[in-house]
Amino acid sequence: MTQNLLRSALEQHNKWLITTHKGPDGDAVGSVVAWAAYAKQLSKDYLILFPDQPAAYLCPFLEGYEWAVFSADKAYSGDLLFALDYNAASRLGEQMAVWFEEQTLTKVMLDHHPNPAPFVQIPISIPDACSTTEVIYHVLEDLEQLDQIDLAMAKGLYLGLMTDTGSFRFPSVSAYTHRMTAHLLALGLEQHLIHEAVYDVNSVTRLQLRGFAIAEKLKLYPMQRLGIMSLSKEELKRFDYQKGDTEGLVNVILSIEGYDAGVFLLETEEGVKLSFRSKGGRFVYEFAQTHFNGGGHQYAAGGFENGSLKETLAKLESLIDQL
Ligand code: 5GP
Ligand code: MN
Repeated sequence: MTQNLLRSALEQHNKWLITTHKGPDGDAVGSVVAWAAYAKQLSKDYLILFPDQPAAYLCPFLEGYEWAVFSADKAYSGDLLFALDYNAASRLGEQMAVWFEEQTLTKVMLDHHPNPAPFVQIPISIPDACSTTEVIYHVLEDLEQLDQIDLAMAKGLYLGLMTDTGSFRFPSVSAYTHRMTAHLLALGLEQHLIHEAVYDVNSVTRLQLRGFAIAEKLKLYPMQRLGIMSLSKEELKRFDYQKGDTEGLVNVILSIEGYDAGVFLLETEEGVKLSFRSKGGRFVYEFAQTHFNGGGHQYAAGGFENGSLKETLAKLESLIDQL
């Protein structure tokens, strides 16, 4: 049913507005790039619209595409609105969420987060998919459009797969993920270049910041098999913090023998951004949702808290036994 709605929406509409969530990560950028490349293949007009500026290491993937950072005093015209890699308008941040809700055009969600909010007419949700780019691949398969995938699309699709699976190591990776990957490589995709562009672009201060966080700012709770790491605004400044510098750092905690949960707290001007990770039989999604205005997946969730880092850490510590 939904597939038929999607099929006719794609055929009817020729100016696509392609959006993704605030703080765009590899899957967010990979998804919008793949979908914009698909729009190009179909000779549609499109615009990629981000709630905020993507991290510098992701910007090279956007070269050759029409994209902009949302501004509340600008008008954006289109006849079909896509929500990629998020499942509620609130993930766009306040201003862009208001704009999104006000739009009267047909809205389509392509996403892999569980429990989507009812915020679009055409929701395509595959919570078992390892990334939103895998959802896109499923959709193209259902539309019998896999032959439309060119090298440009493949780059975006692979970027999402690689980053959301921790380079193909999380339980979300399936045989389907590898069949999809095989298809992308068969098109001539040089996957090592994508890996290098994402993971071999450290600045010295970025490496030092990560080393500092591990050496000085990791607090371990062996009884709870939990590690908590945090960085304050002052510490970030000391290491010339750039957006994306702490991406994936929380996963280090899970690599400690005997530990299966980690939390990373990043102090920002607006408040504290929290990242939760877990493995095995332990889940973080509900905890993030219940206590920190967040959500995500069972093993990888995020949240946000207004207030200082100190207050947020105290709140988190008081709740440790519920994690
Ligand atoms: P990360 O820790 O890498 O920022 O996010 C991990 C996962 O949680 C991602 O799937 C992301 O979409 C989700 N997530 C991160 N922050 C938030 C948030 O504030 N709200 C919700 N609902 N999900 C989030
Ligand atoms: Mn994703």
